[in-house]
Amino acid sequence: MTAVELGIPFVRRTMDTSARPDTPQLVDRFGRIATDLRVSLIDKCNLRCTYCMPAEGLPWLKRAELLDTAEMNRLIRIAVEELGVTAVRFTGGEPLLRQDLVEIIGATAALPSRPKTSLTTNGINLGEHAEALVSAGLNRVNVSLDTLDRAVFKELTRRDRLDDVLAGLAAAKRMRLEPVKVNAVLMRGINEHEAGDLLRYCIEHGYQLRFIEQMPLDAQHEWDRSQMITAEEILERLRAEFDLSPDVAERGSAPAERWLVDGGPATVGVIASVTRPFCAACDRTRLTADGQLRSCLFSTMETDLRGPMRAGADDAELIRLWQGEMWAKAAGHGMDSGEFAQPSRPMSAIGG
Ligand code: SAM
Ligand code: SF4
Repeated sequence: MTAVELGIPFVRRTMDTSARPDTPQLVDRFGRIATDLRVSLIDKCNLRCTYCMPAEGLPWLKRAELLDTAEMNRLIRIAVEELGVTAVRFTGGEPLLRQDLVEIIGATAALPSRPKTSLTTNGINLGEHAEALVSAGLNRVNVSLDTLDRAVFKELTRRDRLDDVLAGLAAAKRMRLEPVKVNAVLMRGINEHEAGDLLRYCIEHGYQLRFIEQMPLDAQHEWDRSQMITAEEILERLRAEFDLSPDVAERGSAPAERWLVDGGPATVGVIASVTRPFCAACDRTRLTADGQLRSCLFSTMETDLRGPMRAGADDAELIRLWQGEMWAKAAGHGMDSGEFAQPSRPMSAIGG
């Protein structure tokens, strides 16, 4: 099945860029500058988190549809060396399923401008690959962990792999991929009671925990705002067990609001993408595994780089397309507006 059959909108941008300032940087019409590139390396995954995809998985992109190693490396080089990107995060799908992950990270870390590199992973297989990733130049990891209960893990991810994730986290710490951050999504009636346990576990092991509000990016389109556990509810649960005070450290463009736990130094973050959006400070640009540029997780439009690249476009043309996509970036995700439409590309094919 092709991306089109998957329902991915191949709606191309046509945007008047005549008012765009003459700068190589990825500026938009609202004064933001994108310096943080999220690269989805693959749409496939070895888990089936219920808030992300259906039990049977998805019609994965075919090999020929995915950018190959050289294409990935070329676009990352252009972003870093020509467009002012200073941080590159690799994600998916599950990025550790990509055979050339170490090679791509190595090429990125070796760029003259030396961007910061990080990986968002479910942690399975991280134990096995952590050493090679560090040798290639990886700086940090975010590992997704929603529960410490084996039965709940199996229900939520539809796989019995909790021990592998915990081993992956331990390896990340051992290999100093720090700060090791843990991402957790709470689901009503499933793991919502574990907020406190997850925080205690992360503090004990030296991981930084961040809760993420569940977003309307599941492939099944089953997200229901009235069922979502809000940031306020998460904080209420945590406050029942810990003393939380605002962390005054500069938040900048970081999506997480941070709290000191019991006076610090331990912290906990809450990413309230739905109830307290941080779009005004967004500094992200996104590249999907099939070579589509997106200016936002919630975009319904994309700019194709794969087609022009395979048709022989030179760097100048790809730079122009990238700048145009970012110039067209919307002010916000508009989830509260009556016109909001969930993008047809699911989170696993965008890169979270
Ligand atoms: N497979 C890797 C992982 O799970 O970390 C990387 C890709 S995953 C799409 C990236 C992050 O998105 C994970 O932390 C996951 O929990 C989160 N995520 C996936 N679907 C989500 C949704 N509908 N709402 C909020 N977060 C979601
Ligand atoms: Fe896979 Fe990550 Fe989606 Fe879970 S959230 S199914 S680990 S891509």
